[in-house]
Amino acid sequence: NAVIGIVGGGQLGRMSAIAAAQLGFRTHVLAATQDEPAVQVSHSATIGSHSDPATLRAFAEAVDVVTFEFENVSADGLDLLSSIRPVRPSGAILRISQDRAQEKTFLGSVDVDVAPWRLVTDEASLHEVAEALGYPFILKTTRLGYDGKGQRRVMKPEDLVAAFDALEPKPLVAEGMIDFGMEVSVMVARGVHGTVRCFDVTENRHVNGILDLSLAPARLDPEVAQNAQDMARRIAEGLDLVGLLGVEMFVGRDGRLLVNEIAPRPHNSGHWTMDACPVDQFAMHVRAVTGLPLPEPVRHSDAVMKNLIGPDDMALWPEIIAAPRLIPHLYGKAQARPGRKMGHVNVIFPRGSLPGEFGVEAALKPLAPG
Ligand code: ATP
Ligand code: MG
Ligand code: MG
Repeated sequence: NAVIGIVGGGQLGRMSAIAAAQLGFRTHVLAATQDEPAVQVSHSATIGSHSDPATLRAFAEAVDVVTFEFENVSADGLDLLSSIRPVRPSGAILRISQDRAQEKTFLGSVDVDVAPWRLVTDEASLHEVAEALGYPFILKTTRLGYDGKGQRRVMKPEDLVAAFDALEPKPLVAEGMIDFGMEVSVMVARGVHGTVRCFDVTENRHVNGILDLSLAPARLDPEVAQNAQDMARRIAEGLDLVGLLGVEMFVGRDGRLLVNEIAPRPHNSGHWTMDACPVDQFAMHVRAVTGLPLPEPVRHSDAVMKNLIGPDDMALWPEIIAAPRLIPHLYGKAQARPGRKMGHVNVIFPRGSLPGEFGVEAALKPLAPG
């Protein structure tokens, strides 16, 4: 049976590997150490660095198709992998998503709106850009940021230079601060023959720059939800995607949609699909990269997903595991460092009955501190 090669050993690789096994595939992971989450559940692994050509070569030769749970492989590394095996999604897509400036330029080219933005290369351009965007705005590194690391809010001119100096690597992008009513995301898959599938729109809440809660379906006007899915489709087609991609969006108070960023892999905000859809985002991803049929996504339940972050959330594990309605998914990480994603829980509700604020709070009661 075909072997799927997964670059990266984290939780997204772990859940992809489990989905792959359920579909009869073997997985081979490229990870830095033997105890990473994905290695624990895969058939085999290459342990080494994704920036070492010999390691990449050995990994690619051990598999039939290469996919990613980790996006920051160098351009040379991507070229090397692509010269040995099919890489899905393609190296070209990864390169776009690795760089916020390229990403925003691409999104504009497929008629998708983004927040007003400018490239900031040096201190001189910094002042011009601040003038053009006006305060407040956000400075972000173009590369390597995640969970809100690699960005600073610039509230007033006095903060400008300190924010610029604090962010590495350069260059940076400056983005207008969006006063959004809601953050949402769409998981979109596209197969080898061009079939496009969108999961229902997800509503997302962040705490300290890290995703905390996702609710599905997002509580949006049907017309806005349709627009969000149409945008995700244009992005998938524009990229010639094979695989699954998460699209993060801001919904303005007037219903206008701006895309924040894209991630060409399963996405944290799609974890609710694991317990609310017969074919979840990981299964859809595996199907897309292996050329299996992509069924229309079916959401049989409404769902809430809560991330378990760091030692504080893991201290609640005894309560979580005793609760009748919480569906736990742990990632197998030994050390619960602050800010680290340790697992998540899903709660499902009969379709059409996603509760309001109090209901969500009640459903997650075992997770309430104190
Ligand atoms: P991740 O990859 O983990 O989603 P990241 O570090 O790449 O995060 P972003 O997704 O760009 O960072 O931003 C993190 C969060 O910060 C967003 O989900 C949103 O809540 C807020 N944010 C980012 N950009 C803006 C903006 N232009 N206006 C208002 N809020 C923003
Ligand atoms: Mg990001
Ligand atoms: Mg983001």
